[in-house]
Order: sequence, then C-alpha cells, then structure tokens
Amino acid sequence: MLRVAPMTGETTWSYLSRLAGRYGMEPAALLPWWTWSGSRPQDEGGPRDDAEVLLSPAGRRLLAQLGGVAEHDLARALPAFNDEPRSGTPDRSGETAGSGRPAGRWKVASAGEHGPVAYGCALCAAARTGQDTVVVRYVAPWQRACARHQRWMLTAGDGHRHHHLDLRAAPEVAAAQRAWPKVARVAAAAGADPGRVFTLAHAVVCAWWEQALQWERERIWPARLHAVAGGDAGPRFWWWRIIARDAVVFPETVTLAGALLDPGMQERIWEDHGAGGLVRPFRPDGAFFRELTARLGRPWLADTGQAPQTGLVLGGPLHAGPLLECMGAFTRIRRGQQHPRGYGLDPWWLRADHRPASGRVQLRALAERATQSAAGRGTGRSGGAVNAGGGALMVRRLFRDRHGRAGVAYTAAPPPPQ
Ligand SMILES: [Zn+2]
Repeated sequence: MLRVAPMTGETTWSYLSRLAGRYGMEPAALLPWWTWSGSRPQDEGGPRDDAEVLLSPAGRRLLAQLGGVAEHDLARALPAFNDEPRSGTPDRSGETAGSGRPAGRWKVASAGEHGPVAYGCALCAAARTGQDTVVVRYVAPWQRACARHQRWMLTAGDGHRHHHLDLRAAPEVAAAQRAWPKVARVAAAAGADPGRVFTLAHAVVCAWWEQALQWERERIWPARLHAVAGGDAGPRFWWWRIIARDAVVFPETVTLAGALLDPGMQERIWEDHGAGGLVRPFRPDGAFFRELTARLGRPWLADTGQAPQTGLVLGGPLHAGPLLECMGAFTRIRRGQQHPRGYGLDPWWLRADHRPASGRVQLRALAERATQSAAGRGTGRSGGAVNAGGGALMVRRLFRDRHGRAGVAYTAAPPPPQ
C-alpha cells in the first residue's frame, strides 16, 4: 500500500488526483470507487481545476485507506475533508450506521466556505512530495507569493490553466509578501480583521489599476506586468493584464493597507477633512494623498493642478470609491457620529459594487470582445467601430504600452456599432 501525504490546505479533489497519479492512473480511473452526485465542474477548457469533492463517512474512510493516511491526519490537512455532502447524497441514511457505500458530491471549491483556491507552488510541492505534481490549495489572496521560490500562485478555476507567475524579475512582489505579516499584526492590534483590511485595500488598488491606463507618467505597473509575463506580454497583453493583475498590484496593496492603518495617516485624513470644523472635500494634493503618493513611489500623482469638482467631491487620480468610503468612515468615527447599526462607521466595509471583477469574469469579457470583433470582420461590416473593441487596434495599443507610454488610447470606449 502506498502512502501519499496530504499537503496543508489542499483540496480533497487535488489530494485524490495526486493519489491516482501515484497509482499510475488518471484521476477518472479512481472515481468509480465512489457513488457520485452532482457533476464534475467543467468549463470551456474541460474539467475545472478548482473542483472539490465532499465525501460521505464511508467515502472518507476509503480515501484514507487508499492514501495510507489516518483520517484525522487528512482532516487536519484538507480543509473540506469533513464537510458533509448536502442532502441528496445516495445512501446517506445507511452510512450513519457505518455500512454505507462510499459516496461523494461534486462542487466548485471556491464556492465553498474555505475561500478561493490556487495552484500551489510546484517547487514547494516537489520538495515536499518528491514528485513533479500539481497541488491545488485553499490560499487566501494575501498569501499568494512563495517568497522562497519567487513564484506567484494563480487562482485555479478562473478559466485559464496557467499555474504560476515567475517573480524573479519583480522582487518587490515577494518583498511585499514578507512585509504583509507585520501589516496584519498592526491590523489585529487595532482590532481590525487583517483579511478585511487587505480586501478593502485590494479593491482600491484594483480601481487604480483601471484608472492607471490614463496615468500618463505611470511606468511601474507596465514594467512589472511585462516582467512577470516573462519579459514581454507580447500579443497576449490583455490576457496577461487580467491574470497577472493581483500579483502586479500586490506591493501597492500592502503599502496602502499599511498606510490606512497608520495613525499618522489617519491624522492626515482628519486634518484634510476639516479637523472637526467645516467639512472639506478630500483634495488630491492634500496631506494624506501627498504622503500616500510618495509611499507608492508616484509623487507626481499629487500634482494634478486644478482638480475637477463634482458636487462637493474633488476628483483625483487616486480617488476610488472604496477608498473615499473608508476615509469617510474614519472621519465619522472621529466626529463621534452614531448609527444604531454602525452604517458608515466601518472603515473596512466594502460595498458589493466596489468589489473588483474576478479573473474569470474579465477573461469571459475579453473572449466576448474577441468574438464580436471576429464576427464584425466576418460579416464584412465597415470595420472601424467593431474593430475598436479588439483585433488590430488592440495590438497597436499594446505597442504603445510596452514602452510605458500614454495609456489614454487604450481606454477610449469603442464607438457604438451603427
Ligand atoms: Zn515555493
């Protein structure tokens, strides 16, 4: 009997797949040992790598026997191992007596309570298991860089099959990973959930990521994007821009989280907002944004000249919705405002419509644009309007960006089709 040790945080399905591999089989060859409900998650590229399986008690016993590992060891390593398959699982009543047949239910891992899943660092897995093997693990978005091997673990199930990004040409990403635990400790000491702080900061930085297409002096992100894409994103620029987003913006995300937790920065927010007197709008060149742009290595972002004003709000290159909400909450707390349910008083609360689009959603939109563009050409429609969404124009935009130059051109919305 082989012994196959589980990796910490691994999905049960990833473990079962590796087990099959050790027996020299495809995972599908092991499946008939269990009775399955639901269907194996699929997408356009075939079976999804972020599948998860919930096993009945007899099903768990069988997996432990095949792997040569005690059930409690599997339960310690595999977050979903003891999750009950929901009602509808065949033979469930019989299993409580211990005589049931092994059964399992399919689901999508990231739809569960254990959070998103990513491809584990293959070099860590090889060192641990002695095998060249793919491990899919539950990994929080703030733990995606393997600082030891300089690799970024990409989300599994986003619709691509790319496992990792090489960070060796962008060492600031792994440096930010090493800096994160300190920021998390500061958050916890301040009574905030580090994961919520990260999520808020990430939403803000993702909004900047879109706005940055219009930052004419931006050089850092284009250079880092090409670096993690192996030196040059090439003709797949827009694809890389989606799958590498979270890695590229990770240093700024950690910097912003640290800045928002810094009492000195909270003091600047308070001063900028009127310090308890007449409320003033946040200015892009105010003390908070000046210091923030310096910490982000982009001091020129504070030099916006005359800031455009909408109602009481001054526009600014870093003025993203979730950031202004967070800053507003700080000032409301300090002013002593009350709300029976705490509305507006939680700096780390993120509105649903402020959540950044997932890689999966963005890749689908990208594919749709490509299809529309191809269809436009196929029917011989007068090119311009349709092609503006992709195709030839996209390549020209990419060429501009490779030199770190003005991104204005590539955000211009395509004119509506006639
Ligand atoms: Zn590693």
